[in-house]
Amino acid sequence: MFPPILKTKPYEGELNGWLKVAHKLSLDSTHPQHKMAAVIVRGGNVLSLAVNSHSWGRHSEVRAISKVDDVRGATVYVMRANRRISKPCKMCGLILKERGISKAIYINKDGEIEEMKIYADQ
Ligand SMILES: [Zn+2]
Repeated sequence: MFPPILKTKPYEGELNGWLKVAHKLSLDSTHPQHKMAAVIVRGGNVLSLAVNSHSWGRHSEVRAISKVDDVRGATVYVMRANRRISKPCKMCGLILKERGISKAIYINKDGEIEEMKIYADQ
């Protein structure tokens, strides 16, 4: 049903930059199981940010890109309040690609910061 969050490792290091911003924001999520947030950045500026809320609602990444028209070439930073895996799911990945987001930065299952190229043609 839900991804095996408990089997993943949390990120133990100090957070900085936009991941820190995303993490702070994730603490405001009202989602019962998955408190997450996404921050979309391009050229050092925040284009949009969002948390997820209800279990039936859209994920934070998609909520964030839905607020702005042009996110081409931007990077999305995704964090979970418990610092565990925050890799965008396949469905969000497709939407991020369709909108031209160039990469995602998140915590992988081993508790490491990981970068994923999404849309490379720019
Ligand atoms: Zn998703």
